[in-house]
Amino acid sequence: MKRIAILLAAMAMALSANSQDRTLRVNYIFSGTAKEQEISVAELCSFEGWAGRRVNMDKLPLRGNGQIIMEGRSTKDGDFDKVLYKTSFSTLFQEWQATEEATTTRKAFENVFLLPMPEEVARITVRLFDFHDNVSCELKHVVKPDDILIRPTGGSTTPHEWIWKGGDDLNADLDAEHRIDVAIVAEGYTEEEMDTFMADAREAMASLWAHEPFGTYKDRFNIVCVKSASKETNVSVPRKNSWKDTAVGSHFDTFYSNRYLTTLHLFRLHDILAGIPYEHIIILANTATYGGGGIYNSYTLTTAHHSGFRPVVVHEFGHSFAGLADEYFYDDQYEEQYYPDTEPWEQNITTMKDFSSKWEDMVGKKFSNQKSSIDWKGKKKNPGKITVGTYEGGGYQSKGVWRGSLDCRMNTNSYPAFCPVCQRAISRMIEFYTEETD
Ligand SMILES: [Zn+2]
Repeated sequence: MKRIAILLAAMAMALSANSQDRTLRVNYIFSGTAKEQEISVAELCSFEGWAGRRVNMDKLPLRGNGQIIMEGRSTKDGDFDKVLYKTSFSTLFQEWQATEEATTTRKAFENVFLLPMPEEVARITVRLFDFHDNVSCELKHVVKPDDILIRPTGGSTTPHEWIWKGGDDLNADLDAEHRIDVAIVAEGYTEEEMDTFMADAREAMASLWAHEPFGTYKDRFNIVCVKSASKETNVSVPRKNSWKDTAVGSHFDTFYSNRYLTTLHLFRLHDILAGIPYEHIIILANTATYGGGGIYNSYTLTTAHHSGFRPVVVHEFGHSFAGLADEYFYDDQYEEQYYPDTEPWEQNITTMKDFSSKWEDMVGKKFSNQKSSIDWKGKKKNPGKITVGTYEGGGYQSKGVWRGSLDCRMNTNSYPAFCPVCQRAISRMIEFYTEETD
C-alpha cells in the first residue's frame, strides 16, 4: 500500500514538473555604499523551458548572503501565503561593500535570478543579509505572468554542445532524471579557438569528476558547452592596461586585487545563455594568467591555461555550486566577516556559535579519502586517512573561525581532495537539487 502511495506521489510530482515549462528571468540592480543598499528591478524576461530544480521548491538550499522567494495565493485576491519557489545566493556587490572603495563611492551591480514562471499573479521578495544575519535590504514586487512588458528571450543563437547528459551517452534524454544543468561558457576565445575551448571544457569536467563527491554523483549532472565567441583572444588585465573585447567582458584586478577575475556583465552573460537549459555557470577564460572567482549561485570564472586550472576550477565551483567558504586565512586580516555572535551559513567553517549545526557529529572520526582525487597536474593522488576536527583559521581570518580538516580543496591548490566536511556539504547540495528531502 505504501509503495502505491509513493508511486502515486511520484506520478503527481512528474505531472506537476511537466507543467513547468517556462522560466522567468528577473534582472536587478543592487546599488549602494558600504553602509546602505538598494534593490531595483531592471527588467523581466522569459524563455521556454525550466532547467532549475523540480524538487524542494519551497525550501532553501542554504541561508546565503541573500534570498529570493516567490509566493502565490491559495485563494483569489487573498494574501500571498504559498511559497512557490525559494533560493539563496551571494553577490559581488556585497563583497564590494566590504572594500575601502565602498566607504567613499556609490556603485551599482547587475544581478540575475531565474525563477519558474508562475501560473498566476505572484509576489517576489528579494532580501540581503549583513554579517550578523540581519536583513539589511528587502524589495517586494508583484509579477503578473500575462504582463505584456515581460520580454520573451531565448531561441539562443549561441552555438552549444552537450558533453555530458547524466553520462557520456550524448543521445540520452536531457530530462531523464532531475539532473543539474551546468553550462560551461567560453570567454576570450575567438571563433577560431573553439576547439581549444571544447578541450578546456572537457578538462574542467574531468577535473570535477576526479573529485569526490562529484565523481560518485556525476550521473546527476548535464553539462553543456556554450561557444560564445569573443572578438579578441585572451581577457582584460587592467593593471597592464590591457583591455579586450570579449564575450562576457571579464577582467582581472576586481576590487584592485590582481588575481580576482570576475565579470560585471551579468545581463550580457544571461543573454548569451537565454534559451539554453542551464542553472549553474562555469565561465572559462582563455588565458594563462592565474586567477578566478566563484560566487554562490551566480557563477564560477576561472583561467583555463594556468597550470593550476584543474584544482582551481573545482575550488571555485565549490563556492558557486555548494556555497563553500574559503578555508585559507591571512595573519593580518583586519576586516572581519565572521563574528562570534553569528554562525556562518557556509557549511565548512564555524564560529562555534552553533557548532552542532555543522560537523560536530564528525569530530574525531577517521575518513579514508578516496577513490578519486588528483594533484596539481591532474595525476591521481591519495591524501590518505583524515581525522576530522576543529582547526582554527578559515574564511580569511586566523582567529575566531574554525575549519574541519588541516587541508582541503577549499584551502590549497596542492591538496588533492575536498575534506570530509566539504564532501558531505556538496553531497547534500546535489541531493537537494535531485531528491525530495524532509
Ligand atoms: Zn573543506
